[in-house]
Amino acid sequence: MKVVQSLVPESKWKIKCPYDMDPEFIVVHNTANDATAANEIAYMIRNDSKVSFHYAIDDHEVVQGVLLNRNAWHAGDGGSGKGNRKGIAVEICYSKSGGPKFEAAEKLAAEFIASILKERNWDISKVTKHQDYSKKYCPHRTLDLGWQRFLDMVSNELAALSGTPIMGKTEVTAEQMKAYLLMNNPNPKLNMDLLEWCKIWIEEAEVEGVNAGPAFCQMCHEIGFLKYGGQVLPEQNNYGGIGATNNSAVGKGAWFDTPRIGVRASIQHLKAYGSKDSLKNECVDPRFKLVKRGCALNFEDLSGKWAWPGYDKAKYKSLNAAKISEDTYGHRIIMNYKDIMSWNDELLMELKSKKISEMEAMLLKMLEILKSI
Ligand SMILES: [Zn+2]
Repeated sequence: MKVVQSLVPESKWKIKCPYDMDPEFIVVHNTANDATAANEIAYMIRNDSKVSFHYAIDDHEVVQGVLLNRNAWHAGDGGSGKGNRKGIAVEICYSKSGGPKFEAAEKLAAEFIASILKERNWDISKVTKHQDYSKKYCPHRTLDLGWQRFLDMVSNELAALSGTPIMGKTEVTAEQMKAYLLMNNPNPKLNMDLLEWCKIWIEEAEVEGVNAGPAFCQMCHEIGFLKYGGQVLPEQNNYGGIGATNNSAVGKGAWFDTPRIGVRASIQHLKAYGSKDSLKNECVDPRFKLVKRGCALNFEDLSGKWAWPGYDKAKYKSLNAAKISEDTYGHRIIMNYKDIMSWNDELLMELKSKKISEMEAMLLKMLEILKSI
């Protein structure tokens, strides 16, 4: 992410940032003003009061005023206060009036804070608020709108930096899904047209905001590319293996009336893991309420949650070890997903070149015929 630097000159360090600092967390503020980030920083540098902060963020940019190895005066907890001496101060602009400009600034702030967390290998507990240090009601508008809501925004951004979020835009096409499935199983057990069924996956995923591509790959994994043969019967329309465990009796898992409702249940079950947002459609997933909402924001996090244990216990000492090697249930889903996207392009190229060579052969034949006349 682009950060514009407009730093406090060394001549003013004594006032604005007198101490060395090794930051331990982030402190979020609202400016309670309607100025741009550049103007907030310029004003902070210009005046001689003991008020300073590391970053100001508006609806289109992040401006840095103090280096991260210097402290800033922002938390109101005094000269040796933890907030002032260990915190990275982030001011979110336009909070006085609020509205779309403030919302955009908050969004950019969430993205930026997530990038700091990622870079420093910090988790969401490192995101704190001014109020934690001096009881001041700041960040006022962010608090009005909901502090947990803002933390969730940061968590979502952090997830996007660390893997493939369950919630996301669908990039795969129904044709690609169909081709991928047929490549792995030429005789799928399905009670409707395969391409139409793939379209249902995309439609149902888009309604709930789930990324259909990896969702489809997960299903392929769960039911062996519609070969079945495990605990789930084709007639169940239960593509996510919902309610079917390794030892349960055949046909014991959930049954769904139509393929569309079966797809819907799979998508809803994924959304339970990948988001805290409510469902758009009526809930048809019988196990939706059993999931701790938002406990696996990325497909890579499903290991040990959706799938148990979600890694090869003979190969790895712990789930974490498998995660480091990117060799878990979730990582395999994403590998397959990336396969769909790349493999299909190659296949299309192959088909195209095949067609061209077929046409060449035909033309040559016609030439031969013309010559002989
Ligand atoms: Zn504040």
